[in-house]
Amino acid sequence: MQPDFACVIPYNQIGEALDAEEAAILSERLYADIGTGAAEEYVIQRRTLLKAMPDITCHMCDGLGTRTDEVGHDLMMPEKDLEPEQAVKLGRARGWCNVCRGHGSLFAFDKAHDLTVTDIAQFADFCLTSGGIFLY
Ligand SMILES: [Zn+2]
Repeated sequence: MQPDFACVIPYNQIGEALDAEEAAILSERLYADIGTGAAEEYVIQRRTLLKAMPDITCHMCDGLGTRTDEVGHDLMMPEKDLEPEQAVKLGRARGWCNVCRGHGSLFAFDKAHDLTVTDIAQFADFCLTSGGIFLY
């Protein structure tokens, strides 16, 4: 369930701009949400959702962990002997993909971007002094 939080921007507003007054209103709402705890609740729920997201299949090796496209062959990735620690971790002695580091899957991109209440406060500060923002 999505919390009622000012920073959740509906997709139909992406591509639109907020003028200085609207950005200041958003700043006020964000600070109100920080004050009520709604921002913290959003951060917690977002982390839970992201944690549950599965890794994605590596597009360069099709999930095999060994890159066999032209670049992979040019760089001899299928023939690459793995370091002993990598071999134990990956369950094979040979074959590499420089994108997924041989795992065949990648960490979902959104997981790499944590959000904290401090980030929200910094964005609220930015909105207040920005003179307006463009959402994308
Ligand atoms: Zn890969």
